[in-house]
Amino acid sequence: MSFNNDGCTTHHFGNLMKHVFKFYSDKVTKKGKPQGSEFTIFAALVLVDCSNNSIPQEKKFIVCSIGTGTKCIGHDLIEKDINNGYLLHDCHAEVMARRSFMKFMYNLMESGKCSEYFDWVEEVERWKLKNNFELYMILTELPCGDCSIVNSPSTVSSGSETIEQNSQANNEEQLNKSENNQKQRKKVILEGRTGSKIIHNDSCTHEKFGEDQTINLVRLKPGGGSRNQSMSCSDKITKWNVVGIQGSLLSNFFEPIFVDKFLILLSEKSKLDLELTQQRLNQSIVDRVDQLSTKTPSFYLFKEGVSNIPHFSDRASETKIKGSGYSIGSYLNLAQENQSHVEEVVIGMKGHKQGTTKKDENTPKAATQLSKHIFFKSFINCIKRKELSAELAQLLENKEPNMKTYHEIKKRESTYVIKLNTMKSQPPFDKWIIKKNI
Ligand SMILES: [Zn+2]
Repeated sequence: MSFNNDGCTTHHFGNLMKHVFKFYSDKVTKKGKPQGSEFTIFAALVLVDCSNNSIPQEKKFIVCSIGTGTKCIGHDLIEKDINNGYLLHDCHAEVMARRSFMKFMYNLMESGKCSEYFDWVEEVERWKLKNNFELYMILTELPCGDCSIVNSPSTVSSGSETIEQNSQANNEEQLNKSENNQKQRKKVILEGRTGSKIIHNDSCTHEKFGEDQTINLVRLKPGGGSRNQSMSCSDKITKWNVVGIQGSLLSNFFEPIFVDKFLILLSEKSKLDLELTQQRLNQSIVDRVDQLSTKTPSFYLFKEGVSNIPHFSDRASETKIKGSGYSIGSYLNLAQENQSHVEEVVIGMKGHKQGTTKKDENTPKAATQLSKHIFFKSFINCIKRKELSAELAQLLENKEPNMKTYHEIKKRESTYVIKLNTMKSQPPFDKWIIKKNI
């Protein structure tokens, strides 16, 4: 594997990616990894210590979280879970990696180890990522939605002989339907188009996936069955570029954390033009929120290596056709004595822990460590460690964590919420799906 160096004096992208993929191969257990002809999408969030070239690799690249997955749950399950927060609604790799990173942050707070990576800023009474760290997001595919619409000459469709295939997985059912209905279609276009669904006045198009490739719109994730309510990964990543990846609750303890660099590894067979693809990522994640974002991440694309890693998605090849049903979320837990990673394996279409019995489906036993239910418990633990604001104290008084309080706290006025609301008041983000709360 060889990669270009971007001139950053403190590391080399190739070493970083080798380190992360080796970590996935060696340290992540088989449970939840794809089998046979299945594939998955991979994402990781890595803190890179840029302070000194001579730091050993293990200390330089801190793999904080890993996510795999291609699925999300439908509207019916979301409705059932409103009062509980046991389920993960969105199990795409990027979202699994982000929630796992949040779990890593909760663990740092709960174990009193924030100072390993963060500085306490007295004036704002929050933790801020140490200056020597940069946050990298590594992806093995373009994020679903807006980013994946790349008009490279090689991805232009050829009329009735074209089957448009989703950028993210979870669409083989749709593809099959499409194949049955229109047998005259022959050629499969694998790249440069999205299967994510445009939102029209609070509803979305189902009939025909991928029919509209207009750029700069917000979209729902692809998928058949009961309508999902999850915004595409392109839209979520754009949001993280405005408010940070830490989410509303953790904003009570942390200054916003932004992804500095995105490293995207495509197949060596990829027909995408790297320069055009990079421009598309910039347009989608940076330009769309130009007025709102204070950070400008960089994007680096590579066409080497994905097919060397078994079962990673490879859009340019037609050999792997079935998205894995499982999602993995793995996070570094410094609270444990050996400071190892903890894995959660989730059934992507159901949002609950692998191995959940029918009887336990709507109970806390179905909840993974990455669920709202557990995050809110951690939030309560963390808040007990610091002096409460009068308003928070009132909200939490004599209360066991429940989803009503969770939503009240999540929505209360804060810099995070104000920024997010501003974003969602402007086109195209004014079409963002507002999920029903209690
Ligand atoms: Zn996605």
